[in-house]
Amino acid sequence: MGYSLTRSQFDQVLSELGKKFRLYAPVLKTGEGRFTDTDVVIYDFVENSSQIEFEKKSDYSFKEILTPLSQTLFFFTEKVIKEADIDDSEAIVFLRSCDMHAVKRLDQVYLNNGRHVDPFYKKVRDKIKFVLIGCPASYEDCFCVSMGSNKTEDGYLFSLNYREDHFEADVKNDDLKDIFASTGAAVKDVTADYVTENEVKVTVPEEVPLSIYQNDLWKEYDKRCVACGRCNLVCPTCTCFTMQDAYYTDNGKVGERRRVGASCMIDGYSTVAGGGQYRKKHGERMRFKVLHKISDFRKRYGYDMCVGCGRCDDVCPEYISFSNIINKVNAAVKEEK
Ligand code: SF4
Ligand code: SF4
Repeated sequence: MGYSLTRSQFDQVLSELGKKFRLYAPVLKTGEGRFTDTDVVIYDFVENSSQIEFEKKSDYSFKEILTPLSQTLFFFTEKVIKEADIDDSEAIVFLRSCDMHAVKRLDQVYLNNGRHVDPFYKKVRDKIKFVLIGCPASYEDCFCVSMGSNKTEDGYLFSLNYREDHFEADVKNDDLKDIFASTGAAVKDVTADYVTENEVKVTVPEEVPLSIYQNDLWKEYDKRCVACGRCNLVCPTCTCFTMQDAYYTDNGKVGERRRVGASCMIDGYSTVAGGGQYRKKHGERMRFKVLHKISDFRKRYGYDMCVGCGRCDDVCPEYISFSNIINKVNAAVKEEK
């Protein structure tokens, strides 16, 4: 069912939803960007529509609400283990289509990856529902159309198109229809906005031969990439983490175990017992990351990991373009054939 709402009507909807759910959406933080006098759009809790950033792409993804950068899993003493409590209230997260597709990747890794479900992820995930923010136009560096993540048909409570002076919502969840109707919103046909063309286009090779590992294209990144790991931090589909034990006592018998986000681009990621390290060169790390996103994940699950949000291109201090690398890999594969 579709509705057209004024801003104050939409705020009434948010106020009603806020009684039951925490609302989590992209928010513009003025002057809090990574360089002086720059802004940043990150996810934060909101109460009304004026706090939500509808016009800009978020620099960082929603990911931290599902997989916090540092998450205490449990506390331990010599004889007792106690699982950490989580915030029990339900949450609604406002996402664009590419990020809805990224949720599918996170669910795949944490919930549908072999015999075991990750219980810590599941506990948080069970509390979360989504609202789809329509995209009327493509942002810089996005290549969602090439990756097939530009459109989302289901998995959300309602979609939302932002217009200059009103909102349009397509409500999928029957339980919410009364809330929308009670604001006096006008009924109309609504389809979530979605992008049909990006300026940036990529071609992902159908098959990547093993010989690509030896290709010279990776050598460029030995010097160009500074291995800062920013690209992993902003990526909505990166799921790597390390385990860290923090001890409260000198004898190491009381403390807590934390899951902490990790990056395949930074030093120490591939360190093994005895101090050995795989992929010391930055180009080798780049090769691992790129092939994971556009080939290896697909071999296991049948679809690509990258959703083409372009955040890694936006954030790289060395102006390295992930989409360019995909096209370079495609050209190299063609040449080798
Ligand atoms: S953000 Fe750029 S420089 Fe930093 S690790 Fe990623 S590709 Fe390398
Ligand atoms: S690899 Fe880059 S473009 Fe692909 S999902 Fe991650 S941040 Fe987005």
